[in-house]
Amino acid sequence: MQTDKTLTLAEQCAAAIRWRTQEIPHLETALADLDGNTCNGWEIWRDRTHPTKSPKLYVFHRTGETCPLHGASEDGGRLRTYIGCDPDNIAEAQAAMMRHIEKQNVEAQLSKIKYGLFSCGHYLDQFFASLDYTVNDDGTIE
Ligand SMILES: [Zn+2]
Repeated sequence: MQTDKTLTLAEQCAAAIRWRTQEIPHLETALADLDGNTCNGWEIWRDRTHPTKSPKLYVFHRTGETCPLHGASEDGGRLRTYIGCDPDNIAEAQAAMMRHIEKQNVEAQLSKIKYGLFSCGHYLDQFFASLDYTVNDDGTIE
């Protein structure tokens, strides 16, 4: 019967909202940990297939964009950062680019949860209105 399903859903509603709400501080902490330690550029290699020269890594960034790790170009143009051929420097730059992707994923998760919770508030207003209740600003119903 549909009423049984509705009651089951309603009983889980508060817990589901609490679980999602509890994820927010964890995601915000993850974002804070990544702050300033990411690179929003991409790899460009030189001499990668050269028979005698060592491959050198550059990190290119979008025109006018500031990289949290590498900064901005002095003329407001595209920042090209020379990383070189040192394996430690290459690994560090690549790790920073991976952290940027991770940051974007965390931001997307956070945004999805916040939008979902916002939508829930709207749906709950409609839910109570459909049962002919009035929802007050403090969340109580009459
Ligand atoms: Zn960078």
